[in-house]
Amino acid sequence: MKMKPIPYGRQHITDEDIKAVVETLQSDFLTQGPKVAEFEKAFAAYIGAHYAVSVANGTAALHLCALALGVKAGTRVITTPITFAASANCILYAGGEVYFADVDPETALLDIQKVKTLIESKPAGYFSGIIPVDFAGYPVDLEAFRALADEHNLWIIEDACHAPGGYFVDANAQAQQCGNGQFADLAIFSFHPVKHIATGEGGMITTNRPDLYEQLLLLRTHGITKNLAQLHENHGGWYYEMQELGYNYRMPDMLTALGISQLKRADGGLKRRQEIARKYDEAFASHPQLKILNPAVYRNSEPEKEIFHAYHLYVILVEDRKGLYDYLKANQIHAQVHYIPVHTMPYYQSLGFKKGDFPMAEHYYEKCLSLPMFPTLQPEEQDFVIAKVLAYLNQ
Ligand SMILES: *Cc1c(COP(=O)(O)O)cnc(C)c1O
Repeated sequence: MKMKPIPYGRQHITDEDIKAVVETLQSDFLTQGPKVAEFEKAFAAYIGAHYAVSVANGTAALHLCALALGVKAGTRVITTPITFAASANCILYAGGEVYFADVDPETALLDIQKVKTLIESKPAGYFSGIIPVDFAGYPVDLEAFRALADEHNLWIIEDACHAPGGYFVDANAQAQQCGNGQFADLAIFSFHPVKHIATGEGGMITTNRPDLYEQLLLLRTHGITKNLAQLHENHGGWYYEMQELGYNYRMPDMLTALGISQLKRADGGLKRRQEIARKYDEAFASHPQLKILNPAVYRNSEPEKEIFHAYHLYVILVEDRKGLYDYLKANQIHAQVHYIPVHTMPYYQSLGFKKGDFPMAEHYYEKCLSLPMFPTLQPEEQDFVIAKVLAYLNQ
C-alpha cells in the first residue's frame, strides 16, 4: 500500500472554516472588527476564564504577559528547558533574566521540587515569576505551583499552548481546565497550524485578573487608548492617548473568524486525539524497548488526581531514537522531536548555560520522539505508524 507522507501534526480546515473567512473578507472589517470580540468571548467561555485577549501569535502573547507583569532589567523568572524557545525568550524580550529548573523525568514537566530548591537557594525576593508549560498537553499541577508561588510572592504565566481542553482535578475535586486563570495569573495559547485550534498565526491570553486584562488591551495596540475613563485630557472626538510603550500585536478579523469556526470543533478534535492516544497506548503498552510518556489516565490508579491529557503530542521514549526516527522517515512517517532543551541552544549557551546543567531534560531529549497525532490521522495511517514502530523495535 502506498501511503502519503504522514506528518506529526496537521491542521484541519473544513468548508465551514473557509466560508467563515470569506465572509469576513466580504465584510467591512479586515482587522479588529466584530469577530475579534466574538472569538475572545467564545474562547474565554470554552476555557473557563473570565477574560481573553487575542494577539498576533503565541509568542506575542508571552511577550505581552511578561510586560503586563512588569518584567524588566533585573527581573528573574524560572521556566522549563523542555519547551519551545518562546516560553523563555519572552523574559529576555522584556529585559529580564531566564533561569531554568530541570524537568521531572516521569512527565517531562517542570519539576516543582527543583523549582523550590532553586528559589530557596537564593535570598527572598530574588525571583519574580514562574512559567510552567503544559508540555505535550499534559496539565501541570498548577495548584501546587500556586502554593509555592504564594509562599514566595511570585506570579505564574501558564504556557498552555499544548493544552486547550486539558484539565486536572484539584484538591477540592474540581476539574481545573488549563488556562482557566484559577491558579495562574495569566495563561497563553497559540493557533499555529500544528496546535489544536489552527488559524495560521494567532494567539490568546486568558486571565481572571481585571487589572492585567486592561493592561493587555493597552499593550496589544501600541499602548493607545480612546477609552474616555482612561484619558488624561480630551481634545475632541478624534482624541486618543498613547499611555504605554505598546505594540501592534493584533489578531485580524479574518483569522479570528477562522478561530471561531475551529473552536466549534475543538471538542471533537480532542476526542479524536484521545482515541488515537488510546490506540497507541494499547499497541505499545508493555513493549520492553519503549516507554510511553504520560500514558493516558483513564487507567490511572489515583482517581483523586485525575488528569485529562489534551494530547498535543504523543511522545514515546526509546534508546535508539535516531535509528527509529530515520527508519520512520524512510517510510514517509515524519515523527518529530520535542524539544531540544532550550538551554543547549547556541544563543542560550552564549548567555552562560552549559550542556550538563539540566541532566533530566537532556536525558529526556536523547530518547523522545513525537508520533503522528492530529484529529484527521486516518485509522489505516495510524496502523501503519504502529506497525513500523514495532517492526523497527522488534527487528
Ligand atoms: C507554539 C508554541 C509557542 C509559540 O506560539 P507561536 O504562535 O508559534 O508564536 C509557545 N510555547 C509553546 C509551548 C508552543 O508550543
